[in-house]
Amino acid sequence: MTKPKKYFTEGTLVSAMANIGKSVDDEILKESLKDKGLGTPATRAGIIEKLLKVGYIYRKKNNLLPTAKGVQTIDIVPDKLKLPEITGEWEYQLNQIAKGEGDLLAFMNGIKKQVHELINTAVDETKVFEESENDSRKALAKCPRCGKRIFENQKSYACEGWRRKPKCTYSIWKEDRFFEDKGIRLTSKQVVELILNQQVKIEYQKNEEETPTVGILKVEDTGRYLNYTIEDDQS
Ligand SMILES: [Zn+2]
Repeated sequence: MTKPKKYFTEGTLVSAMANIGKSVDDEILKESLKDKGLGTPATRAGIIEKLLKVGYIYRKKNNLLPTAKGVQTIDIVPDKLKLPEITGEWEYQLNQIAKGEGDLLAFMNGIKKQVHELINTAVDETKVFEESENDSRKALAKCPRCGKRIFENQKSYACEGWRRKPKCTYSIWKEDRFFEDKGIRLTSKQVVELILNQQVKIEYQKNEEETPTVGILKVEDTGRYLNYTIEDDQS
């Protein structure tokens, strides 16, 4: 059995912030972060206080735990902002400049550009997140791949994860080639049954001239896409 990860206390969190290099894999970055940290000794406790005050974390006995709001925020914040590497990259470049080897103007422009991009991504992601949270449509089923909700869209029955983090691309396309070739038109009820049981009774055409036959449509999820097959109905 693996031990559950220990929660941070205020003390261990301050020391993790001070020794950020320990959590970085890249050797050069590790070196540039060796004596650096997130914040300074004077500001670290204040950063934690701020997280408490804003409601991203809360105290439970000696431990600091994330709130639901904190977890959601981490979900929508771009990866780049969450990684200690970005601080490391900046520190590294600043070191180069301090040694007279870097270009200050280029560095500042790079930072400006990055911040701009990050804010734009964050704004987009927040919009998408709020939209899907307020989604008033009725969910058809639970996604078998990730457990989030499946909604009917114009062209597909898809997991809401297609535009939400963590991303999930589970979707049953209404105009899937397989369905078109066999003259299959799934009702939403059939789709729900297909999702729940990985199979559903349907009518299909073996070829264009023939009258429709009853068969069992089966779906297999590879984790990346869905494989459909049809078997003759034995019942
Ligand atoms: Zn899903």
